[in-house]
Amino acid sequence: APTARVDKLLGSMGYGSRSEIARLGKVGGIVLDGVDLKDVSKRIAITPDLATRMEIDGRPLDPPPGLVIMLNKPLGMTCSHKEDGALVYEVLPERWRRRDPAISTIGRLDKQTSGLLLLTDDGDLLHRVISPKRHVAKVYRATLARPLVGTEGDLFAAGGLVLEGEAKPLAPAALEVLSETEARLTVTEGRYHMVRRMFAAVGNHVEALHRERVGGLSLPDDLAPGTWRLLTGAETESLF
Ligand code: URA
Repeated sequence: APTARVDKLLGSMGYGSRSEIARLGKVGGIVLDGVDLKDVSKRIAITPDLATRMEIDGRPLDPPPGLVIMLNKPLGMTCSHKEDGALVYEVLPERWRRRDPAISTIGRLDKQTSGLLLLTDDGDLLHRVISPKRHVAKVYRATLARPLVGTEGDLFAAGGLVLEGEAKPLAPAALEVLSETEARLTVTEGRYHMVRRMFAAVGNHVEALHRERVGGLSLPDDLAPGTWRLLTGAETESLF
């Protein structure tokens, strides 16, 4: 496991400046394995179990770097660090927004798309999930304005569809018809407004869009819209 000085680690996790953390250590505010850690220049291994072994001001340490979060994204929230209005990052504890490396969404869902959204501070993991070369499935349930005509599935499955304004053809995608106006679509790419534009390309219009699954990880029924939890290591592995 990588190691870091305690003051550097806690600083990068948003707990304060180097001097604030040094002071916190002096007054007994940092405890590791039940023992006051007064010398914050000490190097420690960064492992997930630090969150249960370390206490800051009497509270368990936040998850150390290398976390993955799943959020049931509600409608109306934006996947951006910058824009105005409600941002998905606002559902996380305030201190988590001051971390370096920062926590980012793994790909994006539109403001008007709900469902499974992953966030991480692990850049390698992020790229592995979004890279089209890895073929990680993203599964969406779409509600359509008009009845399906029946040819959409074959067209999407063949690949080669070119979206308006783009040059590169789409990879094959799998359509499962759920009703006249409802379908489940599995894609392995993540282009801008991709699912909405795919249905627009076949003369339809997406009225509601919800992501159900990424790789082998489905949105759990008990994760209410607007709520989130950390992924276990096994759940993270199930993405690939
Ligand atoms: N495709 C879309 O059109 N929107 C999303 O949010 C995700 C996939």
